Formats: sequence, C-alpha cells, structure tokens
Amino acid sequence: MKTAVVTGSTSGIGLAIATAFAEGGANVVLNGLGDPAEIEKIRKRLAATGGGKVSYHPADMTKPAEIADMIETAAGEFGGVDILVNNAGIQHVEKIEDFPVEKWDQIIAINLSSSFHTIRAAIPGMKARGWGRIINIASAHGLVASPFKSAYVAAKHGIMGLTKAVALEVADQGITVNAICPGYVLTPLVEKQIPDTARARGITEAQVKSDVMLKFQPTKEFVSVDEVAAAAVYLASDAARSVTGTHISIDGGWTAQ
Ligand code: NAD
Repeated sequence: MKTAVVTGSTSGIGLAIATAFAEGGANVVLNGLGDPAEIEKIRKRLAATGGGKVSYHPADMTKPAEIADMIETAAGEFGGVDILVNNAGIQHVEKIEDFPVEKWDQIIAINLSSSFHTIRAAIPGMKARGWGRIINIASAHGLVASPFKSAYVAAKHGIMGLTKAVALEVADQGITVNAICPGYVLTPLVEKQIPDTARARGITEAQVKSDVMLKFQPTKEFVSVDEVAAAAVYLASDAARSVTGTHISIDGGWTAQ
C-alpha cells in the first residue's frame, strides 16, 4: 500500500487529489489550514473510501521545522512517504510598487520553499525504497506571466526549475519528479482574487472572469479540480515511470498561444 502526503489538501485542488489517492486505496496524509471540525469531517469521509488510512498533519508551510515533522510523522505512521504532492499555495494580486513585502515573503515560502523542505525530507526514504513520486502543483504561471502577480509568477517559475533539478538528481533511483500546470480552476484561491483583480484593473468582477481569467483560456471554461487529480494519479502510477523532469499542462490551451 502506498502512502501519499498532499500539502494544502483541506480545500480545492489538494482536496481533490487527496480524495483521488484515498479512493485508489492509498494511505493519505492531509495538511492545510481550516476549521478543525471541518478537517476532521474530511478526514473521516476520505478514510471511508478506499481502505487506506487517512491522517491529518497541521504543518504550516511557512515553517521548515513543522514541515520536517510532517514528513517524519508520516514516515513513522505509515513506514514511508511514497507519493509527495506539493500543492499548498496562496495568491496576492497587487501592483509591484504596492506589493507588501511580507506577502512576497509568504508567497515565496508557501508556493516555493515549502517544496524544497518537503522534498529534502522525503527523498532519503524514497531512495531507500527505490521508488517515489513527487508531484508539484505549479501553474500556467510557471510558464508564462500575468501582471500584478509578481510573487506568484516568480514562485511558480521557481518550482518548475526545482522540479527539473531534482528530477535529474534522482532519475536513476526509481523516483520521478514532475509538475502539473493548471490554468484557471474555480477554487477558493481564484474566487478570492476576483475582487482584488477588479480593483487593480478598475473593472467589474464579471469582467475579471470573462475578460481576464478566461480571456487566455481558449476553451472559455474553468478547469475542474478532478482533471488535475486525474493527472496526479497518472503521474503517481507505474505507467508514468519514464515521465520525469517535465510538466503536464491542463490549461484549456492557454500556453499554446
Ligand atoms: P485553495 O485556496 O482552494 O487551497 C489552498 C490550500 O493550501 C488550502 O488547503 C490551504 O489551507 C492551504 N494552505 C494555504 N496556506 C498554507 C500554509 N501556510 N500551510 C499549509 N497549508 C496552507 O487553492 P487551490 O486553487 O486549490 O490551489 C492549490 C494549488 O494549485 C496552489 O499551489 C495554486 O497555486 C495552484 N493552482 C491553482 C490554480 C487555480 O486556478 N485555482 C491554477 C493553477 C495552479
């Protein structure tokens, strides 16, 4: 039985990925912020699906010691971390000259550095077992930019580089490292940035959805969380053992332009 740790899995894409792994029979370690009673409901719901165990670790992705403890605890509880999904992420939309310094630091910590901390802690066990899957949830913004998202775009481009570097380091040890680059997915992260983008650009919230977000997504539809989860399940499978150091775009054609 495989064990998957999914950071930021109390909501949105991470929750869909954790659900898919639980349904597939893996042990799952949930992580993320939120109301403890709600998180416990999610944990119980997932534990009832696929026969694996589901636990929750509250590590804050800005705290390296808590991240190390999450991987150590998962390894202690389940005998090792086979699948690591680095998904936790936040966004902030603001002109560069008004961008709060503490927001920059927080976004770089959560969206980029946390993956360094999880990976460095999980890799020794994967090497020892000769099998591992690391899946970094990047973004179309790991490949191209949009204005007013300097920290997010910088962090997501950074995670693409980290993905490739680590993939090369462990390529001959049964461990693959890949990124998934979704376009716009209608999750709480995206819903929260609609008013800020409207303010930054001086347009209505409806115009943000149609003229900003879906403007670059030729399908004119938001991506669903289940599509991203299905790609994660594929990357974690033995069928994807030669897929490493690369990314899967799920962006409705955005980055083909
Ligand atoms: P979301 O807001 O629904 O979920 C984010 C998750 O991260 C939550 O579980 C939250 O609790 C957790 N989190 C936030 N700060 C944390 C911290 N300090 N420590 C631990 N956990 C923390 O967002 P989402 O849209 O599901 O985003 C998930 C990932 O997908 C992010 O990395 C995001 O950049 C990426 N992504 C999202 C979209 C999109 O359109 N929604 C597109 C491309 C990439």
